[in-house]
Amino acid sequence: MPPATIGVLALQGDVREHVAALRALGADALEVRTPADLERVDALVLPGGESTAVSLLLASSGLRQPLEARLEAGMPAFGTCAGMILLAREVLDGRADQQSLAAIDLTVRRNAFGPQAASFEADLDVAGVTGGPLHAVFIRAPVVEKAGDAVEVLGEVDGHPVVARQGKILVCAFHPELAGDLRLHELFLQEV
Ligand code: GLN
Repeated sequence: MPPATIGVLALQGDVREHVAALRALGADALEVRTPADLERVDALVLPGGESTAVSLLLASSGLRQPLEARLEAGMPAFGTCAGMILLAREVLDGRADQQSLAAIDLTVRRNAFGPQAASFEADLDVAGVTGGPLHAVFIRAPVVEKAGDAVEVLGEVDGHPVVARQGKILVCAFHPELAGDLRLHELFLQEV
């Protein structure tokens, strides 16, 4: 089998950092901006940024429908911060026209850890990640208010799930690409 190609949704947000993280792990990474790009990838990272902006750009780029179809067909995806919001089933405090991809059974509330000034860092134990706690950078992070029965919670802060998985969908509320710790990307690649 040829090596998997990992897409990074490149409409807005910290795309370059995710591409660099994947390449540092030896993965073949491709920026995804069009439906044709999406066809070339075996899995997709949805970076942090602004979920409202990305939601609108998914529509204008023509990516929304093919992306929903790929997710439905079981394509592995890793959503970080805004990416987690986009993959969640239900989004609270979103824009009225913000549409979610509903790939993981989570209810998330945007910006609920507090305003920009309340962005914070934490060391977390994450199930499936060995070698000590993971350093996590939270920037206007979403809070998971509800996780369905099919969702496995892999890490928590103050009783809120911040790393979760359902089937081939992995999400985290923070920015793993900013901390120089590639273990969550590695966990994702193991599932691809
Ligand atoms: N607050 C952003 C949103 O709602 C997410 C922040 C982030 O990705 N760092 O989309």
